[in-house]
Amino acid sequence: MSFKGKSAIVTGSTSGIGLGIAMKFAHLGCNIVVNGFGDKDVINKIVADIKKLGVGAVYSPADMSKSNEIREMVELCHKEFKSVDILVNNAGIQYLAPITEFPDEKWDQIISINLSSAFHSMKAAIPYMRKGKFGRIINIASAHGLVGSEHKAAYCSAKHGLLGLTKVVALETALENITCNAICPGWVLTPLVEKQIAEMAKEKNISIAQAQTELLSEKQPSLAFATPDEIGEMAAFLASDAARQVRGSAFSIDGGWVSR
Ligand code: NAD
Repeated sequence: MSFKGKSAIVTGSTSGIGLGIAMKFAHLGCNIVVNGFGDKDVINKIVADIKKLGVGAVYSPADMSKSNEIREMVELCHKEFKSVDILVNNAGIQYLAPITEFPDEKWDQIISINLSSAFHSMKAAIPYMRKGKFGRIINIASAHGLVGSEHKAAYCSAKHGLLGLTKVVALETALENITCNAICPGWVLTPLVEKQIAEMAKEKNISIAQAQTELLSEKQPSLAFATPDEIGEMAAFLASDAARQVRGSAFSIDGGWVSR
C-alpha cells in the first residue's frame, strides 16, 4: 500500500489516535497536515519526525470549534501539497456529568469539536477532492457512536451524529472516487482516556492499574486496549484502492464492546 504524493489532513494529530494515524500515513508516503493543540516544541518535533520519513509536513493550528480556521486548514493543505486527498476527522474532547448537571458550554463545545468540525472540514475538502478525482474521508467516531454510556450525553450525541453525517456524505459522493467511512474505537490508552482513568482512581480510591482493569472489565470484553497504531492501520485500509466500494460504513475496533 502506498500513498506517495498524496496529502492527508489529520485533525487532532498532536496526540493519541490522531498522531498514530498521521505517522501511519507518513510511513506510507503521504504528505501530512498536522493539527491540534499542544506544546510548541512537541509539535515541531512531530513535524520534523514526519519530514524525516521523506514526506512533506505542515502544521495547522486551526481550532476545530471555528469554521473559518477549519477552512484555512483545508486551504493550507491545498496550497502546500497541491491536493486534498485524505481527510481524517479525529480531533475530539470528552466531558462526564449526569445530564441534569451537564454544563451548557461543555455541551456546545463537544458538539462543535466532535461533530460540527467534520461538517465544516468535509464541506471545504470535498470540492478539492472532486477536482483531484480522488478523496478518502475517515471520521473517527467511537463505540459511543453505536451505544450509549451514562454521563456522556454530549459525547454520545456527537458520535452518533458523526455516523449519520458519514452516511449522508457517502451517499452524496457515491458516484465518485470519493469515499466516506467511520472508525469506532473502544478504549484506546491515550491522554483522553488516561484522564478518565485518573478520575476513576481518585473517585474510588483505587490505584491507576486497578482503575484501568475496572474500566476495561466494564465495557471491553477482550480486556485489552486498542492502540493508535491499530487505528492507523484501519484508516490506511479505508484510504486504499481496495476499499473503494466501502462506503458509509462504521468499523469497530473495540475488543468486542458493541457485540454485547
Ligand atoms: P487525545 O486527547 O489524545 O487527542 C485529541 C486531539 O485532539 C489532540 O491532538 C488535541 O490537541 C486535539 N484537539 C482537541 N480539541 C481541539 C480543537 N478545538 N481543535 C483542534 N484540535 C483539538 O484523544 P484521543 O483519545 O487520541 O482521541 C482522538 C479521537 O478518538 C477523538 O475524536 C475521540 O473521541 C476518539 N476516540 C477515542 C477513544 C479512546 O479510547 N481514546 C475511543 C473512541 C474514540
